[in-house]
Amino acid sequence: MPEMNKKKMNTDDRIILYWMQAAQRESHNPALEMAIRKANELSLPMLILFCIEDHENEANLRHYQFMLEGLWETGLSLQILRIPLLIALGETESLVTQLAPNCAAVIMDRGYLREQRVARANIRKHLEDEGIPCFEVETEAIVPVEVVSSKEEYAAATLRPKLLSILPEYLINPTPNTQLQRSLKISTMQNLLPEKDSRYFDELSNLEELMDWALGELTFDKSVTWGSCFRGGYSEALRRLDTFVSDRLLNYATLHSDPGTDYQSDLSPWLHFGQISALEVTHRILSACGLEPAQVPSLIKHKADYYGNLASCASFLEELIVRRELSMNFCFYNPEYDSYAAIPLWARKTLEEHATDERAYLYSTDIFENAATHDPYWNAAQIEMVKTGKMHNYMRMYWGKKIIEWTLHLEVAFYLMQYLNDRYELDGCDPNSYTGIAWCFGKHDRPWKTRPIFGSVRYMNAAGLERKFDMQAYLAKA
Ligand SMILES: Cc1cc2nc3c(=O)[nH]c(=O)nc-3n(C[C@H](O)[C@H](O)[C@H](O)COP(=O)(O)OP(=O)(O)OC[C@H]3O[C@@H](n4cnc5c(N)ncnc54)[C@H](O)[C@@H]3O)c2cc1C
Repeated sequence: MPEMNKKKMNTDDRIILYWMQAAQRESHNPALEMAIRKANELSLPMLILFCIEDHENEANLRHYQFMLEGLWETGLSLQILRIPLLIALGETESLVTQLAPNCAAVIMDRGYLREQRVARANIRKHLEDEGIPCFEVETEAIVPVEVVSSKEEYAAATLRPKLLSILPEYLINPTPNTQLQRSLKISTMQNLLPEKDSRYFDELSNLEELMDWALGELTFDKSVTWGSCFRGGYSEALRRLDTFVSDRLLNYATLHSDPGTDYQSDLSPWLHFGQISALEVTHRILSACGLEPAQVPSLIKHKADYYGNLASCASFLEELIVRRELSMNFCFYNPEYDSYAAIPLWARKTLEEHATDERAYLYSTDIFENAATHDPYWNAAQIEMVKTGKMHNYMRMYWGKKIIEWTLHLEVAFYLMQYLNDRYELDGCDPNSYTGIAWCFGKHDRPWKTRPIFGSVRYMNAAGLERKFDMQAYLAKA
């Protein structure tokens, strides 16, 4: 055990610890709400610990920067509530367990990916062994995955009725966070973690100081630099949401798939980092359309019957709630969600039957990564992702399908897609990433007319893009 663990506080001085990981926000954060409530009930102070690990998956400078921009703003909001935020560099499990002897209880938010679940399970086990109560609170899905369904769902069509039947109960607007009754004297918590690797938010004078310290200490890949128009943080997410509601929501249903226009909300990076909650987004959309939560199930179910704002509201909530929570269902119930084995059997069988079909083009990772294929639309999509950190949704589908078509081995195509997606998309390494990639291979889809290379897995081509959209407008954006 490291030396600082011996610095156990008096029982009277124990704290409520909220280990913040997935829900990197102050607003609409049920884990934070619970921690404040517990601290006030027990008349104890509380502390929030945020750990920054090195070398997380494909995460690189653009992801860390976006995350730190958001964390800075969250720290400022927590200051108003007088809740101290301790930012620590290093391995999460070890950092949480080092603080555990000082805790009357530990609250954690929720994560659906393997590493997030393993970390939570290990921390819970350690705390149980120490007799410290530990609570995991749903902060990602609007309805917790296991409440919706006890199994991996076949497709949106099978998840939707289950989710919609209970959704209104979960669309409750939380009350704003209350002030802490007892605040923590930072001096009592000094040196619990090594000074070099941790900073109290209050000790940092500005975002640059946080960036210099955290980014300077970490050794992750810094070759993928910034250059995007996306800035992290709750206020930027709200600003984007407001602009979306006022300027684009009306036409979302008809135009959000068109890559030549900009009718998506662009909220996925902020949702991915938990800088804004899907529940808060839902409430803002409902209030803009004058709708009550009880109307949502029928609206989504009968979305084809509506037009204008209502059709768009239905279409947007279908994506934000049904599709997003289908991704969580996939990652929660399928332990192989990030491997080729997760592809449904019918799709693997038909793809493998066509594995030796002649391919007109074959490209290496370098050609793909450098957007140097023969296809200007594919190249533009890759450039959009590399330059901005976010590719248009429709182009993500086309991009993935073409990687399958232009790669000799299916498994190579699968992992190459994951590599490029998680390296360049700001919203990468998300349940939506693994589900989107698996979708390109037939997951959550049905068999279509048989074709070369794809068999009965859905196929996409450039002529289809040109028929549906103004692709010159998309190319002009690159
Ligand atoms: C190959 C491939 C890779 C993908 N990789 C990612 C990824 O790394 N991260 C990611 O968040 N999404 C991914 N998606 C899903 C989808 O493309 C994005 O969620 C969407 O483009 C985000 O843009 P937006 O916020 O402007 O979407 P909007 O259309 O404004 O939708 C609002 C929100 O709804 C959710 N949503 C929208 N479309 C989908 C979908 N198809 N599946 C699940 N949820 C959805 C997202 O949370 C999104 O932010 C991928 C899809 C494919 C086909």
